[in-house]
Amino acid sequence: MLTLALSKGRILEDTAGLLAQCGIRLDSSAVDSRQLILPTDDPGLRLLIVRASDVPTYVQHGAADLGIAGRDVMLEHGGEGVFQPVDLGIACCRLAVATRQGFDYPRAAVPGKRLRVATKYVNTTRRHFARKGVHVDIIKLYGSMELAPLVGLADAIVDVVSTGNTLRANGLVEVESIMPISARLIVNQAALKTQQRTLAPLVAALERAARATSGGQA
Ligand code: AMP
Repeated sequence: MLTLALSKGRILEDTAGLLAQCGIRLDSSAVDSRQLILPTDDPGLRLLIVRASDVPTYVQHGAADLGIAGRDVMLEHGGEGVFQPVDLGIACCRLAVATRQGFDYPRAAVPGKRLRVATKYVNTTRRHFARKGVHVDIIKLYGSMELAPLVGLADAIVDVVSTGNTLRANGLVEVESIMPISARLIVNQAALKTQQRTLAPLVAALERAARATSGGQA
């Protein structure tokens, strides 16, 4: 039995579509329930519902054979102990810097100045500003990042942006795009050997489904 870890929401919705293309269906009443282990109609595959940032941890330690996680999550985790064989091209968005309207970001984000940045993407943010030579004081938050510039906790935030509606609703503007984000299929390195007979066909089928889906960049 293979175990696939993923988060609820956009990734689960898009993955359900890819699995359907592979001939695997989820039980919709289980999806709508609070169950954390979801069966599929394939007795060889079950899903684990975990927090997005925990997906690589489950896969790294072999509690799940494979998982689906955003590039943003994988960059923060570091990717130790997991292969990332397929860009599924789902849950696309971008990692961006945003500030209050009227904040002079081009003058503030220059070498020699200090910028206070609130984010949950601590490692990626540190690397981004280090490349630019900008000193940053990073304030780690776990959610509602948009609030930080509004109440003076930070000058800027780094967060994932899709439509930009959340930023606009809070009077923030995107001032710099850092990188495009999409969800990756990740695989436990040991499982790739021990479960190869069942794992390899599923990885190949998901890759084919991702390619066939419009917008799939796999
Ligand atoms: P937006 O469509 O820009 O208003 O995005 C709404 C919120 O959902 C933002 O605060 C993001 O943190 C989050 N979000 C949007 N797209 C994604 C994604 N692909 N992966 C993870 N979080 C996302």
